Amino acid sequence: MSEQATTDPYRHYVNGEWTDGHGSETFDSENPATGEPLATFHRGTEADVDAALEAAEDAFEEWRELSHIDRAEYLWDIYHELRERHDELGEIITKECGKEISEGKADVAEAWHMVEWAAGNARHPHGDVVPSEIGSKDAYMRRKPRGVIGCITPWNFPVAIPFWHMAIALVEGNTVVWKPAEQTPWCGQIIAEMFEDAGIPDGVFNMVQGFGDAGAAISEDERVDTVLFTGSAEVGHEIASKVGGEPGKLAACEMGGKNGIVITENADLDIAVHSAVMSSFKTTGQRCVSSERLIVHTDVYDEFKDRYVEIAEKVAVDDPLEEDTFMGPAIEPEHVEKIQKHNDLARQEGAEVLVDRFELDDDEIPDGHEDGNWVGPFVYEIEYDSDLRCLKEECFGPHVALLEYDGDIERALEIHNDTPYGLAGAIISEDYRQINYFRDHAELGLAYANLPCIGAEVHLPFGGVKKSGNGYPSAREAIEAVTERTAWTLNN
Ligand code: NAD
Repeated sequence: MSEQATTDPYRHYVNGEWTDGHGSETFDSENPATGEPLATFHRGTEADVDAALEAAEDAFEEWRELSHIDRAEYLWDIYHELRERHDELGEIITKECGKEISEGKADVAEAWHMVEWAAGNARHPHGDVVPSEIGSKDAYMRRKPRGVIGCITPWNFPVAIPFWHMAIALVEGNTVVWKPAEQTPWCGQIIAEMFEDAGIPDGVFNMVQGFGDAGAAISEDERVDTVLFTGSAEVGHEIASKVGGEPGKLAACEMGGKNGIVITENADLDIAVHSAVMSSFKTTGQRCVSSERLIVHTDVYDEFKDRYVEIAEKVAVDDPLEEDTFMGPAIEPEHVEKIQKHNDLARQEGAEVLVDRFELDDDEIPDGHEDGNWVGPFVYEIEYDSDLRCLKEECFGPHVALLEYDGDIERALEIHNDTPYGLAGAIISEDYRQINYFRDHAELGLAYANLPCIGAEVHLPFGGVKKSGNGYPSAREAIEAVTERTAWTLNN
């Protein structure tokens, strides 16, 4: 972290300066595996957001005049730094958000992949030249930056997701005001230091630390041309509904899911069990693509259940900094309570509980980590019924329903699609016709066949349908949200 860090709280980064801001409140970042405070940060206010937006607006005119290649130069510096500091940053991510160290490092790798993709695109300009309907004219499409982009990001990919948004926005000529998640301000601090070290011109990149009120001050301000949001559906839809009414303003929201894996009668059960275990328990179920519903054909249901439950009974939580840890803690005590509420709801709705390790035994918790936010798997079976809330609401934890189905792939898809969400899902099947049916009919943005429902590739659009997204996927497609097109016709 920067040298300013002694006992003073960390600051906001606005207009090329570190600033205490206008508020008097501070907040701590905590290690979810130990409960220990990591560092203290100034809490951003509306006045801090106002200063950051003013800086971003002032910087826009000069920044947009640079070529894509010149703008990308700053990001190449950051790309190299991310690579050089891979292990160190992975460890910081793990300390601050509790994900296993392998996942912490993967978060850094995903960030540099995104920066590489966005900066590399500067050398690969794209556009459309199309014939005019009138022979003597030429026509083409040109993209322009939209202006000031407000970025609001979640805690669970605290380095990768900010770069999904900011790298493309900046290379395309926009300026940025970013609010990191309140649970992961340390990661925010480090990213801001990287932009400072890269020498990005004052006001082009700004960061205000804080909570939802600072996020709302960004998203609701008329100077923001696009809001790039990733987080819960609750917040995303609030942002989209407010922004949607404002002419010329756009909100691209990537939200949660109630993801399902369909396991058909001919599935390879080794693949099915591996896929389900990875997707439902890795990162303690706290990925937007984690599966909370396993939809299993009756012919293989009992065998799958026995094998899955055997593992769910055994998967261990451990110190996330240890290389071979499979599951770390939940992010914060409030989230542990939320997971418990989802488990209780399933019970109230008639779940047959197969594994209840929500409250782990003392000897399951790693030594010296007694104050961490530990939870274990909760697995239940329940007869599918469209009215069950437990099959529709995202828990965002190791909370999994087993649903037995009898019938064809159409029946499996009826169950699969019966949630308000449409983010990610997988099919495990040896029959290509079933896989094709899933491909064509599953309501989602990210699909996997015979693979864990997990992971992302930056050159593919990352987004969902229904309640999970509003039509502007992240990564490759984010260019749509940070540029506007002008159709040109020229007289020859
Ligand atoms: P969250 O919605 O609580 O917070 C996300 C961000 O929004 C934070 O920075 C928060 O401070 C800010 N915020 C809160 N209230 C706000 C408001 N009223 N106006 C503006 N900003 C506000 O989400 P979280 O708990 O950080 O993340 C978990 C959620 O994110 C899960 O639902 C998960 O599925 C989803 N997620 C989705 C994706 C995706 O790509 N689809 C990726 C990761 C996480």
